[in-house]
Amino acid sequence: MSPAIVANNLYRYFGTLKAVDGISFEVPHGSVCGFVGANGAGKTTTMRVLATLDYPTMGQVEICGINVVNFPAKVRSLIGWMPDYFGNYEHMTVLEYLDFYARALGYAGKERQMRVQEVMEFADLIPLADRLSNKLSKGMTQRLCLGRSLIHDPQVLIMDEPAAGLDPKARVELKHLIRILAEEGKTIFISSHILSELGEMCDSLLFINNGHIVHHGDAESLKQGTETGGGYFFDVQILGDAQSVSNWVVTNPYAEFIENRKNGGRIRVESTETAARVLASMVKDGLQVIEFHKEQRNLEDAFIDMLDKVNTPPSMPKQP
Ligand code: ATP
Repeated sequence: MSPAIVANNLYRYFGTLKAVDGISFEVPHGSVCGFVGANGAGKTTTMRVLATLDYPTMGQVEICGINVVNFPAKVRSLIGWMPDYFGNYEHMTVLEYLDFYARALGYAGKERQMRVQEVMEFADLIPLADRLSNKLSKGMTQRLCLGRSLIHDPQVLIMDEPAAGLDPKARVELKHLIRILAEEGKTIFISSHILSELGEMCDSLLFINNGHIVHHGDAESLKQGTETGGGYFFDVQILGDAQSVSNWVVTNPYAEFIENRKNGGRIRVESTETAARVLASMVKDGLQVIEFHKEQRNLEDAFIDMLDKVNTPPSMPKQP
């Protein structure tokens, strides 16, 4: 079976602006993939091509093995699209709004009623059935948009910043709904700036920067820094003069001093084996270590590290 989403050498230029500059990735069926990038990185542009709303300048995109340019109608039947901004119809209630979309999707009679009822139950919209759709809170509006994108029970959901502007409670509710959809086996491709939340719910994270993919992996490996070559960070606390930690590291090639801490410092080592050696040497050299623990970077730190890494020009090779 072909993956749920395949992008192969995808380019989208706007004149000379290279919004998406040759990206390739795959998202397997039934997985949740977080799409992360700074403002203007190319997320919406990519998602619009996946959702058949824009043409690539070059390259191919397939949804469940179907080419988005050649068979857009077929692809639209397979995807649910949740844009970052969408208009509401004034004077239309929540129920009328969903019913309108169900009609537009070709549902009729009992089946249409059932589809609308099902998505209203799922997205907790039943208490809002008679509320005007342009008089909803941001959280309710997002649930309505999610409901709308689910009417035809799509296999793949493409969600552009669905949590943007939501308060913490509404974010938790949305996350809960996304988790249920993932458990039902839907493939979810979701962009967000709230990295910690994406890390919790995504099987993989795809980082885009200036139209290029700079990372595709799971959140754990990213936090550990194992895929970015970041090594491991340890918090070292000692009894006595905190400065002793940095003094010791300066004379030791296996560790790098990162910053001072109240009772010691933060160091970086290449591997956990090296960490064991460093700890043993510190104790042997008379440092009274009372704490030595590995720190997990949060996703925001990992993201910033990654951007620094890709934006730093490679250093000149050393002269022999
Ligand atoms: P954000 O998080 O701010 O929504 P993004 O990662 O979704 O950003 P895009 O909206 O994909 O970024 O934009 C990528 C680049 O392409 C930006 O420089 C943007 O200004 C440009 N761009 C997007 N759409 C167009 C367009 N229709 N015409 C010209 N430039 C565009």
